[in-house]
Amino acid sequence: MADLTKEQANQELMKIRPQLDEWREAYYTKDAPVVEDNVYDKLYNRLLELEQMYPELVTSDSPSQEVGDVTLPDFNKVTHEIPMLSMGDVFSEEELADFNQRIEKNVGHEVDYNVELKIDGLSLSLIYENGILVQGSTRGNGTIGENVTENVKTISDIPQKLSQPLSIEVRGECFMSKKEFLRLNQERENEGQQVFANPRNAAAGSLRQLDPKITASRKLDTFMYTIVTFDGLNVTTQHGALETLKELGFNVNPTAQVTTGLKGVKEFISHFGEMRDELDYGIDGVVLKVDDLAIQRELGNTVKVPRWEIAYKFPPEQAESIVREITWTI
Ligand code: NAD
Repeated sequence: MADLTKEQANQELMKIRPQLDEWREAYYTKDAPVVEDNVYDKLYNRLLELEQMYPELVTSDSPSQEVGDVTLPDFNKVTHEIPMLSMGDVFSEEELADFNQRIEKNVGHEVDYNVELKIDGLSLSLIYENGILVQGSTRGNGTIGENVTENVKTISDIPQKLSQPLSIEVRGECFMSKKEFLRLNQERENEGQQVFANPRNAAAGSLRQLDPKITASRKLDTFMYTIVTFDGLNVTTQHGALETLKELGFNVNPTAQVTTGLKGVKEFISHFGEMRDELDYGIDGVVLKVDDLAIQRELGNTVKVPRWEIAYKFPPEQAESIVREITWTI
């Protein structure tokens, strides 16, 4: 691998990129993936490896430079003034330690992380003016998203009116519970319609409907986790943001924890890795976020991902039910 020439790397990249583009279109645009996520992730990571080896081979339209989703032409579009980014991911304890080391090196000391479940749904942005919901949108390509305001209004756990008359943007995950996913697929099967591959795609396919009545007929849920514009709120940490979101009336996942360094992170990962089947919603990993918002701002973002957060991805669910062991040196 080390002696791969630039020409060989380029040849391989020219095969990988169209393959990833094809899978991305099926997943993001059609909400109908043709391969499992771990298959996608493996090829995507090979792309990153080759591009890191020869950075001059990175193209501006490479999947490594673009936030995934493509907007459907039938929807009105919205512009995200602050882009909705993707997230870096790691798959092993070693990679997690590398991430922590990078953070500590940049910051100069150990940091607190707010550790959260990585909910397997689709990103959602909500805008409120004077406490009233005025816009709901999808992430789209990160800068341009789909306007799904009328659909969002049919989701019962999203407040139409906040507990305070604030003008803010908040973001989080829209998802479908496992129970609702089974119900919907059963209904579709009975009607001879194609079933959804997984709850994530069912949620995306249900939110991205031109007819809000269809969205309303399927039970979607949300967990909100980001305050984008603070408008006078006195929030200085990610865990404080979650508290505030709760007070404002949003549904917030109750499992988040603040922990210093990696020990607590690893315990959190082991715990939820073992009991994820018991949750009524899908998770595909755990997200670590530097808790201090001032440090987050200092660390900033790359073109695609924030530098202050990372997702630890669980092994794929099917394989996991057979081999269910995540062992850590805690
Ligand atoms: P991602 O979904 O892996 O991670 C970023 C997203 O995580 C955020 O946009 C947010 O919506 C979500 N998230 C969930 N819980 C969160 C929390 N607590 N805090 C913050 N964010 C949270 O990244 P992506 O760029 O949207 O998609 C890449 C992933 O999609 C890949 O890992 C891959 O597995 C999958 N994918 C699969 C295929 C396929 O063909 N199977 C194709 C393309 C992408």
